[in-house]
Amino acid sequence: FKGLLSGKKGLIMGVANNRSIAWGIAAKAAEQGAELAFTYQGEALEKRVRPLAESVDSDVILPCDVTDESSMDEVFKTLEAKWGKLDFVVHAIAYSDKEELTGRYVDTSRENFTRSLDISCYSFTAIAQRAEKLMSDGGSMVTLSYYGAEKVLPHYNVMGVAKAALEASVRYMARDLGPKNIRVNSISAGPIKTLAASGIGDFRFILKWNEYNSPMGRNVTIEEVGNAGLYLLSDLSSGVTGENHHVDSGYHIMGMKREDAPAL
Ligand code: NAD
Repeated sequence: FKGLLSGKKGLIMGVANNRSIAWGIAAKAAEQGAELAFTYQGEALEKRVRPLAESVDSDVILPCDVTDESSMDEVFKTLEAKWGKLDFVVHAIAYSDKEELTGRYVDTSRENFTRSLDISCYSFTAIAQRAEKLMSDGGSMVTLSYYGAEKVLPHYNVMGVAKAALEASVRYMARDLGPKNIRVNSISAGPIKTLAASGIGDFRFILKWNEYNSPMGRNVTIEEVGNAGLYLLSDLSSGVTGENHHVDSGYHIMGMKREDAPAL
C-alpha cells in the first residue's frame, strides 16, 4: 500500500529519541504521505527530536509540556495558523516517579498519583479538547496504553491505574466526538525497551516473560506499533472508535504461562 495518509496533517507528541513508540508511528505516517508536526518536552530533548523531525521533512517542531496549559495552547495556535486544520494526533506520553514503579502499588503517594494521572491520562483529554476544534473534516486520535491497565503486573503500579483511566477516557471521548466523525482509539503495546520503560522496575524480566509466554514467542517492535498506528490514523479504520487495539504478539489472550516457556 502507498499514500494511505496522503494529504493528511498530523501532530506527533511524545518522541524522545529514535526508540520512542511515537517515532515508530511517525516514521510510518511520513512514509505514507502524511505531513507532520512534532512536539518535544524541554530543550534537552529538542536536540534529539529536531533531527528526527527534519528527516521526515517536518518544519513544525514545537516545545510542549502537557502540565502547562499555555504551552499546549501555543502548539494549537501555531497549527491553526500554519495548517488551519488537523487530521490526526498521536499522544505517546506518560510519567511516574521511578521510585513508585517498584514495590507495592498500595504505597503510592498522593503527589505522585496526581501527577501520574495528570500527565499520563488527563493530558490526552486536554489535547483532544484543542484538537477537536481543528478537526473540521473529522479526524483520528490515538494514544498508547499497556496491559497493566487490565491486569496486575509487577512494578507497573500507579501507571496501571493511569492507563485504566486513559482507556476509559478513550471510550468517553469516542462517544463525545463520534458525531463529528472524530475517532478515538488506543494501542496497547507489548513491552518495548524505551526511555520511559527503563524507569519500570525489573523491565528486563517483563521483556523476557512476554517473549517466552506470548503466542508468537517474541516481543514487538516500534515498527509494528507504527503499522497498527497507520491503520488507526488512516481511513482503513473508518468504522473503528473507542477501541483498545493490542499489538503485543498476542500476550493478552493467554490465561497461563506457556507450557514450553523456558524457566526465568
Ligand atoms: P519514551 O520515553 O520514548 O516516550 C515517553 C514520552 O513522554 C517522552 O517523549 C517524554 O518527553 C514524554 N513526556 C513525559 N512527560 C511529559 C510532559 N509533562 N509533557 C510532555 N511530554 C512528556 O517512551 P515510550 O515507551 O515510547 O512511551 C510512549 C507511550 O507508550 C507512553 O504512554 C507509554 O506508557 C506507552 N507504552 C510504552 C510501552 C513500552 O514498553 N515502552 C508499552 C506500552 C505502552
